[in-house]
Amino acid sequence: MLKLSKPNISEAAISAVADVLRSGQLVHGQECEAFERELAAYLGCADVVLVSSGTAALHVALLALDIGPGDAVVVPDFTFPATANAVAMVGARPVIVDVEAGTYTLDTAQFEELVQNWKGPERLRAVIPVHEFGCMADMPAINRIAREHSMAIVEDAACALGAIRADRKAGTWGDVGCFSFHPRKTLTTGEGGALATDNVDLASRMRRLRNHGMERTVTGMRFLEPATNYRLTNFQAALGRAQLPLLDEWIDMRRRLASAYVTLLKPLQDEGVLLLPDLVAGHSWQTFMVVNRSDLPRSRIIQILQDEGFEVNLGAQSLSVIGIYAGSDKAAPCGGHLYREGIALPFCEQYSKTNLEMVAQALARCLGK
Ligand SMILES: *Cc1c(COP(=O)(O)O)cnc(C)c1O
Repeated sequence: MLKLSKPNISEAAISAVADVLRSGQLVHGQECEAFERELAAYLGCADVVLVSSGTAALHVALLALDIGPGDAVVVPDFTFPATANAVAMVGARPVIVDVEAGTYTLDTAQFEELVQNWKGPERLRAVIPVHEFGCMADMPAINRIAREHSMAIVEDAACALGAIRADRKAGTWGDVGCFSFHPRKTLTTGEGGALATDNVDLASRMRRLRNHGMERTVTGMRFLEPATNYRLTNFQAALGRAQLPLLDEWIDMRRRLASAYVTLLKPLQDEGVLLLPDLVAGHSWQTFMVVNRSDLPRSRIIQILQDEGFEVNLGAQSLSVIGIYAGSDKAAPCGGHLYREGIALPFCEQYSKTNLEMVAQALARCLGK
């Protein structure tokens, strides 16, 4: 079975983890502090705060910005539910805006229209643009609109570590950027996540919020506010550190493979049975998703490909369709369509062009005319 993707863990990474396990320093420690510094240098931001997942990062970002009851936060329709769940968990309301067809990211025209016509009753406090599958949302436009309306910007860069737009990395455009190191992402620590920011006050608040609301003093510890334990472990940080120097190389390979996929699948798009993603510069290609436009139901296509030994899956969810946030806003036809017809194909830097050719041939057998 050619899996959807697979973690890229070297023997050197495994021994780095084993070294930490032997050291006995299992929770927050030197590896965590080094990984924070190295990530900040890689991203080009002032500070990075590690947490235990991408969801924890989103939750801590919203807590640190004091977003809560009476507030509303704009989220794109097509994403992983954690984006909206974090908003709901702090007691605010997620307001769903549709996405664009070729990039699967927030539709900025619809975002601007919503913001300009906002009548409450909640205060529109923030926007969470999602860099879906590693494709950066239109951050120049989103930043302009959000700033004009005094809204905070929390980037959900969970799948976009290493994505770049106009020489600025994903996660460094807003007030806070949130990353995930789940095994489905390009760099993984098992579970894991990080927050990036240029605001040093926000960084120290986020450090406190991931660690029981605690600050160390010369005499001991002070507990300043109710908070979480969302710390990353020292051995997870060692695993992440071992991968970071290789990340840009992996992303380059992913970019080459994504354009190979587009070339291989172009005939199916020309026949009108498949829609391919835009080859956007700076895309980090965490996932390669196509959209079914044939008469075959997607479930059937997924089954046929599975039977032929290719693990394929739906790409992401539609917040307006999944139920818990349905009806909270007007429908999002584009996000709904991507959710119903999207097919994520086997894809990662460890796959060869031959692997992709086999997937493309299987798709052509099933969809081709
Ligand atoms: C993976 C992902 C998350 C959640 O990250 P976890 O580390 O699994 O909690 C949130 N948002 C998006 C867009 C994601 O892809």
